[in-house]
Amino acid sequence: MNVKENYSLLNYNTFGIGVVARYFVELSSNQDIQEFLEFKNYKKLGKLFLGGGSNILFTKDFDGIVVKVNNSGIDLIQETKDYFTVSVGAGMNWHSFVMYCIDKGYSGIENLSLIPGNVGAAPMQNIGAYGVELKDVFKELEAINLETGEVCIFSKKDCGFGYRTSVFKRELKNKYVITRVVFNLFTKPNIQTSYGAIEHELENMKVSELSIRAVSEAVCRIRSSKLPLPSELGNAGSFFKNPTISVNQYNEIKKTFRDISGYSNPDSLIKVPAAWLIENCKWKGFRKGDAGVHKNHALVLCNYGNASGKEIFNLSEEIKLSVKDKFNIELEREVNVY
Ligand code: FAD
Ligand code: NAP
Repeated sequence: MNVKENYSLLNYNTFGIGVVARYFVELSSNQDIQEFLEFKNYKKLGKLFLGGGSNILFTKDFDGIVVKVNNSGIDLIQETKDYFTVSVGAGMNWHSFVMYCIDKGYSGIENLSLIPGNVGAAPMQNIGAYGVELKDVFKELEAINLETGEVCIFSKKDCGFGYRTSVFKRELKNKYVITRVVFNLFTKPNIQTSYGAIEHELENMKVSELSIRAVSEAVCRIRSSKLPLPSELGNAGSFFKNPTISVNQYNEIKKTFRDISGYSNPDSLIKVPAAWLIENCKWKGFRKGDAGVHKNHALVLCNYGNASGKEIFNLSEEIKLSVKDKFNIELEREVNVY
């Protein structure tokens, strides 16, 4: 085990925050993880398991051990008339896995193209985009209990998936490390273009025959045109979740703000774009020092150079307060703050 001491996390988080971890180690197998958990030098220390660092804001040095999970491999474990069942190591890059599936003709995650990060973190917040969520193709996952070292299997029900959440982000936070994820991918193309932007982009691309590759390409083109690349501008994607409000509250707001949009949820609440709320509080393009709100996308908080995690966090607090003041809506952070 190559444990490093006082290790900079600058290159391990897409916000580009240069905090220091007291210890840092990369592990690639269940056995390595179990041995590490037994090691008495590290037993009492706080632990943070890391994937691609694309959904994290570090606000201070980490006085414990950061473990980068690198478990690899893709195994086809079953093929039926309807599904390819595929087991994937937590350390696999998510977008590379999506590309692998498209090459093989496995359908279901093409709308989730170009989401940064690794497979192991994807169930944490039930990643979603363009009308598809991880839970739609999820079968089960393998995780190791940090207390006992026991390898456990979590079914879809056990994971308690919700909108950008799961048990691992709530009641089981910091209790398990996810080591593999098993997916049921469709044998027949399960094409979903209900998000208007995809259909529009497919028209622009003059696609003659719909395919999962064409949908993936459309998603990549839309994303590349809208979202800043973390390699060029530090960010962690959407900083806040889209809030849901009652129909009454929505109708009240609409009386004053005619252009607000809302999407009905199965729980009879209305989902309101957080980006619209933030933009209406005049934050879009705001910058204080090196911490700011992207000029084209109000949900994306950015590090323009040397912002500290604290500065970005403080900006997010100010945004929350102003949205609460103006609309009486409580924004919830999607990014994990440490
Ligand atoms: P990390 O940031 O490394 O970790 C996130 C959390 O998961 C942390 O709390 C960490 O401790 C925990 N964790 C990581 N790995 C494990 C593990 N193996 N076991 C247990 N806990 C673990 N998200 C979406 O849902 N949809 C999008 O469309 C989307 N677009 C994005 C666009 C951009 C430009 C960026 C920067 C981010 C975007 N995100 C999006 C957010 C992010 O990419 C996803 O949440 C992604 O799944 C995070 O993966 P990661 O490996 O980088 O996780
Ligand atoms: P967009 O297309 O401009 O839409 C704005 C918001 O309205 C989205 O957040 C989306 O909610 C909601 N929306 C739009 N059309 C909808 C429909 N037909 N049904 C239900 N809800 C609808 O959004 P965008 O910012 O460019 O992002 C596009 C997609 O990528 C979204 O799904 C978004 O979640 C995802 N994305 C996520 C992150 C992240 O870090 N989490 C970063 C970039 C993009 P939803 O967010 O609930 O889909």
